[in-house]
Amino acid sequence: MSIENLYQFDEEYRDTIATVDEKGKRIWVYPKKPSGKFHNRRIIVTIVLLTIMFGLPFIKVGGDPLILIDVFERKFIFLGIHLWPQDFHIVALSMISMVVFVVLFTVVFGRVWCGWACPQTIFLEMVFRKIEYWIEGDTTKQRKLDKAPWNREKIFKKGSKHIIFIVISLLISHTFLSYIIGIDKLKAIVSQPPGENMVGFISLMAFTAVFYIVFTVLREQICIAVCPYGRLQGVFLGNSSIAVMYDWLRGEPRGRLKKGEKQEEKGDCIECKMCVYACPTGIDIRNGTQLECVNCTACIDACDQVMDKIKKPRGLIRYASYKSIKEGQDKIISTRVIGYIIVLTLLISVVAFMLFTRADIEATILKVPGQLYQEQPNERISNLYNIQFINKTAHDVKLEMKIKDYKDATIKRVGEETLIIEAGSRLDGVFFIEMARKDINAMKTTLEVQLITDGEVVEDIKTNFVGPVTRRKK
Ligand code: SF4
Ligand code: SF4
Repeated sequence: MSIENLYQFDEEYRDTIATVDEKGKRIWVYPKKPSGKFHNRRIIVTIVLLTIMFGLPFIKVGGDPLILIDVFERKFIFLGIHLWPQDFHIVALSMISMVVFVVLFTVVFGRVWCGWACPQTIFLEMVFRKIEYWIEGDTTKQRKLDKAPWNREKIFKKGSKHIIFIVISLLISHTFLSYIIGIDKLKAIVSQPPGENMVGFISLMAFTAVFYIVFTVLREQICIAVCPYGRLQGVFLGNSSIAVMYDWLRGEPRGRLKKGEKQEEKGDCIECKMCVYACPTGIDIRNGTQLECVNCTACIDACDQVMDKIKKPRGLIRYASYKSIKEGQDKIISTRVIGYIIVLTLLISVVAFMLFTRADIEATILKVPGQLYQEQPNERISNLYNIQFINKTAHDVKLEMKIKDYKDATIKRVGEETLIIEAGSRLDGVFFIEMARKDINAMKTTLEVQLITDGEVVEDIKTNFVGPVTRRKK
């Protein structure tokens, strides 16, 4: 039997889930406490990401949060840049780029996001489980404790663990809400009695309950059955995708050396199952890439430690592509991968360019409906307009308006004369444009209204001026 037949790698996806038994009952996973080179790197990445996540809401630029996703008030701030409904094209392109980015990234790098940066994995594996190991001990002790009757030790351990879990869930829900309503509103909710801000209080409690249930009860089921990104892996991953893989060519035939067997007859896998015991989704990576694998690298570390002990080279389980293992090459960065990286870089550059070069002040000018023109004294004609200004900057802006190319044209604003638009806000107004009759040569004259701030033209808006046609003398 050839090794390819022995190891049915083409049947990558199994038709059962490791965490559900034949009767459909949940099999609780007790993964072995992870340790090793990759785990240490993940700890560093986790510290960096959690610092960013918890720290960002406190950082302000010009009094505004660095990131705000206020869906209720349709106010969005990204890295200090205010995004308005008028910036829909940028948001839409960013979304499209994001989807393309996610697809291409996954095609090339598999589920690197899941293992290293996804909040679900980070909180579950690097925060909640760590507390569990600290209080209840490693796999065997956890199993024993769960089976034990409710004695004083069990009540103390389980009670203290769940109290800490609730506190962390509270912390996550507060941080989560601060990205939606901003840290100042959150502080107001927290400092006031619940009755003063019932909606805010209920939202906080609801988020806390959701996070607590996700990290205490649902756990790996979120990645396996709920997360749409996880469900799409079967479509994204190909033979060249990089993923956590078992090198079946090196590992098979697996098993310990029996009496009379020669070393050459066996692969490097000694069937110790340490990789299976370490897996937080309960799978055996030696069956091939599976939907449940979140690329957490725990099996790589576990197997590397076994390889060290049996004095074999590390990397029996490693980051690799199916192709790289099958064709026996270690090179995982192919021309295709480089091509994808270039496309991704271009996409991100286009969105960044649009974001950083868009107009800070935007205005929409529309003629007041139902009005043609008004005759004014001194041979002058006026039109009435509605105007809407949007100040996308983090500071107040004093504006001046001028008509380009028509020296005699004037702008008269209804109401206050000074035009000050507050930071990150919208201002609606009504104004007249007045022109000398002699300058009007058609029913519709196209005018360019210039918005000037600090002597600099920041926006040029075209609009139509309607007037009576002045007959020229022959
Ligand atoms: S840890 Fe390594 S040697 Fe042990 S069963 Fe898994 S792949 Fe085989
Ligand atoms: S198979 Fe390995 S990388 Fe995948 S989830 Fe399990 S331990 Fe993590």
